[in-house]
Amino acid sequence: MALDAALAETDYLSAGWDGEREAFIQSLLVALEVSEVVRRESTVHAELALITAMVKGEIDNVEPYIGVSKHSCIMCSQYIRAFNRVTKQKVATKGSHGKIYPGWFWPSLPSHDEELRPAFLGLIRQQLLSDFVQHTETRRLSDSSVGSGFPEMELHPTKDDIIKLFKASVPTAE
Ligand SMILES: [Zn+2]
Repeated sequence: MALDAALAETDYLSAGWDGEREAFIQSLLVALEVSEVVRRESTVHAELALITAMVKGEIDNVEPYIGVSKHSCIMCSQYIRAFNRVTKQKVATKGSHGKIYPGWFWPSLPSHDEELRPAFLGLIRQQLLSDFVQHTETRRLSDSSVGSGFPEMELHPTKDDIIKLFKASVPTAE
């Protein structure tokens, strides 16, 4: 699976990390289950729709700054990083809020897709790896520092907390 690929060539793939990998996968599954609750039609996010319009020449003479009113999601910001790498452009955005929305859709860009896909996948794997490392460190921290004043919700969000979080972050109408 994707996680194995992301952790390939690191020590994290060894048997000693079985438990941590299992816990991490569980946390991903919880997020996935939650995303079912707010599932909507798959869409290409606005930032990426603008990029494809730019590449296809549907709009020209544009400033390479995408000024959407909100920060971009993880998938969009990694896509834009991959796009910049592949096309040597410098498309800038406001930055990422670090969330993933269900229903994110790959924007079709036939002229660049062949290069974009592996570049994007590489970045997503990097992200998965750093998320995994952070996940295990947070768990260790929470195991060894019970009562140290960390807000309980941040380390052990309940399903309700996560649903609330998702509902707050997913716009109900476009
Ligand atoms: Zn997005």
